[in-house]
Amino acid sequence: MNKIVRKEQFSEKVFLFEIEAPLIAKSRKAGNFVIVRVDQRGERMPLTIAGADIDKGTITLVVQMVGLSSKKLCALNVGESVAPSYRH
Ligand SMILES: Cc1cc2nc3c(=O)[nH]c(=O)nc-3n(C[C@H](O)[C@H](O)[C@H](O)COP(=O)(O)OP(=O)(O)OC[C@H]3O[C@@H](n4cnc5c(N)ncnc54)[C@H](O)[C@@H]3O)c2cc1C
Repeated sequence: MNKIVRKEQFSEKVFLFEIEAPLIAKSRKAGNFVIVRVDQRGERMPLTIAGADIDKGTITLVVQMVGLSSKKLCALNVGESVAPSYRH
């Protein structure tokens, strides 16, 4: 599980999350996405990697609440965790 280190609300339904994921931060390329699960048994949700900080070992995701999984994700706060896996 990977910890949320920053959360910002951009609008009513759009949130930014910065998540600890050092290996993904190091190897990601423009246009890549991650598959995020809110918990180990959660639905698999593709989300574009909007940015990465190799020094901090974090990736940035911008998420729009549209249905169940994105609502569950957007309800999480700093210090809680998600499970991203890398896709390219
Ligand atoms: C490669 C890829 C990259 C993606 N990157 C991002 C990203 O960076 N940020 C992000 O917020 N989303 C992104 N998405 C979309 C995201 O995966 C879905 O919004 C998410 O899986 C919805 O899951 P849910 O369970 O919340 O909603 P669901 O229950 O699956 O959907 C609820 C309802 O919303 C509709 N819906 C689903 N997605 C959208 C949408 N994006 N806009 C309008 N209506 C929608 C569905 O048709 C359905 O009627 C990406 C999708 C793909 C395939």
